[in-house]
Amino acid sequence: MKKHPAEHRFLRFVLPAKAFAAVKAGTKEWETACPCGHTQDYWDAGGVRAWASGTPTRLAFCPVCNKNTLQQVRRKTGVPEA
Ligand SMILES: [Zn+2]
Repeated sequence: MKKHPAEHRFLRFVLPAKAFAAVKAGTKEWETACPCGHTQDYWDAGGVRAWASGTPTRLAFCPVCNKNTLQQVRRKTGVPEA
């Protein structure tokens, strides 16, 4: 079984399955972009976008740089956040 980040385990614990799926779907619209150009799914990076803080960047692990880098959080569609 795939190991989930702590944030996701917490969500699974507190949310009904449908709500968890909704949060996951919303977060899946986002990605993180490393300064090196590598992007990854925000959800897979352990992020949760449901209760957005408005923080445009986050410290996340980049497999290309092989270290934690300050990555930009952005919508995959390129549509600016409302
Ligand atoms: Zn990188």
